[in-house]
Amino acid sequence: MLTRIICIIAFLAVPLLAIAWGFFGHEKINRHAIYSLPPSMVAFYKLHTDYPVKHSTDPDKRRYLLPDEGPRHYIDLDHYPPQMRDSLAIPWKQAVAKFGLDSLQPHGVLPRHFETMMYRLTAAFICRDVAAILKVSAELGHYVADAHVPLHSTANHNGQLTGQHGIHGLWESRIPELLADAEFDVWAGKAAYIREPRAFIWRVIGESAAAADSVLMIEKRLSQSWPADARYAWENRKGKLTRSYASDYTKAYNHKMGDMVERRMRSAMLAVACCWYTAWANAGQPPLQMINNTKLPDVVEKEQEQLEQGFQAGKIFGREH
Ligand SMILES: [Zn+2]
Repeated sequence: MLTRIICIIAFLAVPLLAIAWGFFGHEKINRHAIYSLPPSMVAFYKLHTDYPVKHSTDPDKRRYLLPDEGPRHYIDLDHYPPQMRDSLAIPWKQAVAKFGLDSLQPHGVLPRHFETMMYRLTAAFICRDVAAILKVSAELGHYVADAHVPLHSTANHNGQLTGQHGIHGLWESRIPELLADAEFDVWAGKAAYIREPRAFIWRVIGESAAAADSVLMIEKRLSQSWPADARYAWENRKGKLTRSYASDYTKAYNHKMGDMVERRMRSAMLAVACCWYTAWANAGQPPLQMINNTKLPDVVEKEQEQLEQGFQAGKIFGREH
């Protein structure tokens, strides 16, 4: 009994890394976003796949260096009165003039930073700057993915207000790591042009906010029917014994939510592709092979041709529905 109590205290005392979707989830989202790109873009991104995948978590790492970085990853929509929420979706300068920087910044600026990143990616394409295209693509993908996480849209972001400390990691890291490769359908569909990026990101955040109550309530109810020691387990992660949510409990929670995590992950993949595509289109659709300034290997060109045919036929990379 004493051992169990010590274990639970140790678990609660360990600060959880603030990596939304976890390394696994962010990498997977950026990787699969590439598959949704049109043929005119996919060869370039596939040629450089490692970069947008490997650097998908850079913004979270930056949270440990820059104080201003943290608020870029969330917005506590429920901090604002319902009648005020619609009026937040205005240009940043107007929002600051209307509400004041001090009242906005602490509660998250994800939508605002998203617009900044879209601008930067468009500029990178215009400048034909390969390094910037890859860097901003990787990081824009991160913020778009964060916007799809319900707990990034609420002040109760880790269940700290409802005695559910750790739910953040359970939802966005533990579930995908346990189930995404084995069970999730990750074919997200074809990227489409986003006419109004600001409206787009606010819609995504609105969807996340609408799901936040369910995320918290379902886990609360489930936890009441599971003994505490059955909810957690020690697991060997990368050679290190780590206390985490037990597999059975994680699966039960995911089951109770239906396909929410899978759906949000898939939506994030498509959204990332749409954003990359939109920035490229707004830059005048520069030919990416020329930007790369090296002739693509024949095998890539051939693949591009095949992809073009497959894309037009609408049957590439798995199921659409
Ligand atoms: Zn993040």
